Amino acid sequence: MGGEATAYRRRLDRLLERLPHLGVDAILFFEMNNIRYLTGFTGSDGVFILRSDNGVLLVDGRYTTQAGEEAPQCEVVQYRDKIGGIVSVLGEKEVKRAGFEAAAISVEFHEKLRGKLAPGMLIPLTEALTGLRSVKDGQEVLLLRRAVDIATDALWQVIEEMRPGVEERTIALEMDYRMRALGSEETSFPTIVASGLNAALPHAHPGPRKLEDGDAVVMDFGAVHAGYRSDETCTFVLGRADKKFREVYSIVKDAHDRAIEAVRAGAACREIDRIARQVIEKKGYGQHFSHGTGHGVGLDVHEAPRLSALSDQVLEAGMVVTIEPGIYLPGHWGIRIEDMVLVKDDGCDILTKISKELKII
Ligand code: ZN
Ligand code: ZN
Repeated sequence: MGGEATAYRRRLDRLLERLPHLGVDAILFFEMNNIRYLTGFTGSDGVFILRSDNGVLLVDGRYTTQAGEEAPQCEVVQYRDKIGGIVSVLGEKEVKRAGFEAAAISVEFHEKLRGKLAPGMLIPLTEALTGLRSVKDGQEVLLLRRAVDIATDALWQVIEEMRPGVEERTIALEMDYRMRALGSEETSFPTIVASGLNAALPHAHPGPRKLEDGDAVVMDFGAVHAGYRSDETCTFVLGRADKKFREVYSIVKDAHDRAIEAVRAGAACREIDRIARQVIEKKGYGQHFSHGTGHGVGLDVHEAPRLSALSDQVLEAGMVVTIEPGIYLPGHWGIRIEDMVLVKDDGCDILTKISKELKII
């Protein structure tokens, strides 16, 4: 517990340093993964109020005991009514200007809260908090590695079941079951198993389609360990791969490899996206790469930074991001290759373990 308590302290201290620059003397957190990151509390509802002297965790009666155990460094306050609880803590602590996570609450909640406070007291913060969790510490990287290990072991088991005649949804269910059986808390996101024509849809839902000989099968999956999520995509082929498929696979693989080679602290996220995109555009498939090259991953499967043409973020050592170029040919098939990498000063470590060489099963 000692080490973890220090990690929470460090995270709070880093934020506290920024309070004056943000022009506020407190911040209200509503987003549960941010609250978990800052306090250790894993409940599904609550508010965390960060102030220069301490942090107050507000929870309802269901969570009072749990909050006390998980976040012993915080003052835990039980509320009956959330808005009433916030107003009373802010008053007690004489807060003048409270920043809040504008993207995490409804307009209705904001209106009600604002009506109970002095005019101008609530300051929306969105941009300022976007990158809060993007740089991971050593402990977080260990948890991500563990999530990757679980997903990898599950995939090896499920590969045995992949043969013509088996439905996509059976493979997906099997994957979810194996990950859970190996210790995953839940799945990182709904597992994607997209075969044949369905593989041309970047976010296909696994359905009753039966795998056929010669199918491409895109599998996008992730396990969860202590809240940390893995995210990886393999594209396999059943039985045999034709010349065209091999050719396009090698283009996607090349885009993936070159993007990974370019990952290092100081690299612009949009530059990583440009490198992957350029490989695909040069071969004439630009319009078939319809999504960004990658994203941060941690307590949420999609978090800052974004690796896309529109991103103005810069990679920093300790960030964990995915690299996932794809080419989707409607009416034919699709290919996506995704790995998770840990950004370092002089390059990156690939956290995912499954080889992305073309695999025929
Ligand atoms: Zn994915
Ligand atoms: Zn992803």
